[in-house]
Amino acid sequence: MNKFMVANRTINMGTSRRKFIKISALGIGSVTATSGALNLMASNSYFNETNVPILSKKFQKIPTYCEVCFWKCAGWAFVDENNSIQKMIGNQEDSHCFGRLCPRGTGGVGMYNDEDRLKTPLIRTTINGEETFREASWDEALDLIGEKFNEVKNSYGPESIALLKHGSPGKHLEHLFHSFGSDTIAEPAYSQCRGPRETGFRLTYGSWVGSPEPTDIRDTKCLVLIGSHIGENMHNSQVQEMSDAIDNGATIITVDPRFSTAASKSSYWLAIKPATDMALLLAWMHVLIYENIYDKEYVEKYTLGFDKLKDHVRTFTPEWAYGITTIKPDVIRKTARAMANAAPSVVVHPGRHVTWYGDDTQRARAIAILNGLLGSWGRKGGFYFKESIKVPDYPHPEYPHPKWGWREIGAKYPLAQMGNTVEVIRASIPNEENKYPVKAWMVAGTNITKSIPNRLLLEKAMDALEFMVVVDTMPMDVTGYADVVLPECTYLERFDDIRSATNRAPSIAVRVPVVEAKYNSKPAWWMAKEIGERMGTGAYFNYNDYKEVIEWQLNEMGTSLNEMINIGVKNYPRKSGPLFLDENSSYKFPTPSGKIELYSQELKDLGFDALPVYNKHPEPPQGFYRLNYGRAPMHTFSRTANNPNLNDLKNENTLWVNPKVARILELKKGQHVWLKNQDNILSEFSIKVRITERVRWDSVYMVHGFGHNNKKLSRAYSKGINDTQLISQIVEDPIMGGTGMRGNFVTILTENPHKNMTI
Ligand code: SF4
Repeated sequence: MNKFMVANRTINMGTSRRKFIKISALGIGSVTATSGALNLMASNSYFNETNVPILSKKFQKIPTYCEVCFWKCAGWAFVDENNSIQKMIGNQEDSHCFGRLCPRGTGGVGMYNDEDRLKTPLIRTTINGEETFREASWDEALDLIGEKFNEVKNSYGPESIALLKHGSPGKHLEHLFHSFGSDTIAEPAYSQCRGPRETGFRLTYGSWVGSPEPTDIRDTKCLVLIGSHIGENMHNSQVQEMSDAIDNGATIITVDPRFSTAASKSSYWLAIKPATDMALLLAWMHVLIYENIYDKEYVEKYTLGFDKLKDHVRTFTPEWAYGITTIKPDVIRKTARAMANAAPSVVVHPGRHVTWYGDDTQRARAIAILNGLLGSWGRKGGFYFKESIKVPDYPHPEYPHPKWGWREIGAKYPLAQMGNTVEVIRASIPNEENKYPVKAWMVAGTNITKSIPNRLLLEKAMDALEFMVVVDTMPMDVTGYADVVLPECTYLERFDDIRSATNRAPSIAVRVPVVEAKYNSKPAWWMAKEIGERMGTGAYFNYNDYKEVIEWQLNEMGTSLNEMINIGVKNYPRKSGPLFLDENSSYKFPTPSGKIELYSQELKDLGFDALPVYNKHPEPPQGFYRLNYGRAPMHTFSRTANNPNLNDLKNENTLWVNPKVARILELKKGQHVWLKNQDNILSEFSIKVRITERVRWDSVYMVHGFGHNNKKLSRAYSKGINDTQLISQIVEDPIMGGTGMRGNFVTILTENPHKNMTI
C-alpha cells in the first residue's frame, strides 16, 4: 500500500491499477550537488549590472529568460571557463524585470544543479509483483509512446489523447498535439487560477487581462488589492512598480482576511470575513454612485448600462455590507472616497489566482465595473493598452481539424476561453454517455496532484487511462502515476520559443543554452519532434535543431540570432496607438457595443446575471476553520520546493493560527499538527503551528506547494502539508468552469492520526 493510500485511509480508497510509484528507478545513482550559487546570489556584489562589461571579459555572458515562474524575465547567465554557471542577473532592457531578477530567478540555477533531477527516461514495470520504474533509452521510451499514442488514435481518434500542460514545454507539445489532430488541451493556469478574471474583464472591456497585467502601478495614486498578495506573489516588475508607487506616496488598500506583506505596506487593511468580497465591491459601487464621486464624464462617454447599475446597487449600502463583511461602514466609505480622490490614477487589481467560490467571473466583473466607475481603464496610473509583437509561425503543413476537443468537452461552460482541466479529467473516466472519451494523457510541466483539487476524481481518471506520459525536470509527485516519464532539461540547457512580451511596448527575448544538458535529459521541442516522427507527423517538424526555427523567425522579424545573443532583449516601438485613451478622439472598445459594458447583455442572453450579485457561501462548521492558502516570495508553487537554493530559504510551510484558536486548542508555537477536512480527508504529513494575529480566528493559512510525497525529492519530501490534498469540495463557475477552491474547512488534530494504521 502506498503513502497516498495511507493519507486517505479514512475515505476508504481501493487499490489502484495505476499505483503511485515513488520514483526509485533501478540503477539511478545520486550525484553530488555542485551549487554554491545561493551564496553568490546573496553576497557577491561583484555580480551586478554595473559590472557587466568587466564580467563579460571574465565570463561568458549568455541570454536567457527565466522559467522559475511564468513572468519570463529576461536575464543573463554568467558562465566561467569550467562551464559552471556563476550568476544570473536581469537584463536592463527588459520590461518584465527592469534589470533585476527576483530571488527565485536568481536561484534558478538550483533547478540545473538539483541532484534529484530526473536523469533518464523511465518506464513503469512490474518486478516480483511490485510496480516500479526501470531506466530506458530514449529510443525505447519514445517508441513506446509512439506505439501507445498510435493505438489510442487508431481505436478512438486522435482527440482521445489529452495534453495537460504549463510553461514553455507545453508550447512545443501543443504543436505536436495539433499536428496529429488533437485539441484536447487544458492547463491549471486557466481553470484553477486566472480564468475567471480573464472572462470577467473580457465581458466588460472586450479584452482579457493577460500576463503581465496591464496595470500602470508605477504611476498609480491608489492601488487596491483584493486577496492579491503582491510581494508574496513575486511577479517581478509588478513588485518593483508597487514599491515605486509606495515611495511616491500612493494609497494602498488591501482587502484580505490575513495581514499579508502587502497589507503591512497599506494605508488601509480591510480584514474582511472570507467569502464576502462581493458585498464589499457592491458597497463601494454604491458609495461612488450615490455620493456622486464616480468619473461622470468617462462613464457617460465610454460605458453602457450605468442606469441599470445605479438601480442595482441602490440598496447595497455600507451598512448592508457591514453585516456581511465585518468591515465598518465608515471604512467602506473612506476607502471608496480614497479611490475617487485618486481617480483615474487608480488600479483595482484584477488579481491572479481568483478561483475561490464559484462565482468568480462575477466577482471579476465587479472589479472591472468598479474600475470603469473610477475611469481607470486606459488612463495613466490605471490600466494601459498593452501591445505585443507577433512572432511568425515557422512554416508547417496545415493542422488537421479535430472532430472535437476542449470546447466540446467543456461545452457546459459557455464562456470558457481555454480547456478546462476538470472536464478533461471527467472525460477520462469511462461512462457510456460520454461522447468525448479521453484515453491517454501527456502531462507536461505541471504537477497536477498539487494544482488540481479533488484528488479522488483525479486518481479515478488516471486509473482509467490506457496510457499516461509525464514530462518534467524533477520527480514531482505526478511522475509516480505515469507509464513513461521523460526527463526534460532545464531552461538553462535549451533553446526555446522566442518570448514575445505583452507590455507597455512590444519586446522579444531569446533563450539559448547556457550550458550543456545534464544527464540524459532533453528539451521538449526535441521530444515533440521525435514523437511526431513516430506518429507520422514528421513534416510538422522540419528542422534538426530548434535553433533553426528561432533563427528563421528572428530573420523574419528583422533581426538575427547573433544580434539577439548580444542584446538578449529587443524592444520595438508601439504601433497600435497611444498607451492611454486619447480624450480628444473617440475610442471603440472591442465589446459587442463598442463600450465598456457595465451591464452585460451577453451574460443576460446566456441566462446569467447581467450585473454581479452577492451570494452567501458556506461557512466553517463548528470546530473547523476555512483553509486559506497563498504564496511565499522565494517559491513558485510546488515546482521550487526542492530547489537547493530556494529550499535553503524556506523548506516547509507552517500553519498560521490565530492566538484565540491556539488558546482554545492549547496549541504551542512550532507544535506539529495534522489536519482533517470536512470530508474526513487527512493530511498526509504534519505541519508546524505558527501563532499569529495576522490571520483571522475563523481561518487558517498556509503557503501552497509543500507536503511532497515522493521520497526522491530529498529536500522537499514530507516537509509540511499539501493544501490541495485537503481541497475536496469545489464549486464550479457556471460561466467559464473555474474551480472555486476556498470552500474547504479543516479541523486541527494534535495526535498523529496515522500512527495506528497498518501500512
Ligand atoms: S518573477 Fe522571478 S521567478 Fe518569475 S520569471 Fe521573473 S525572475 Fe524568474
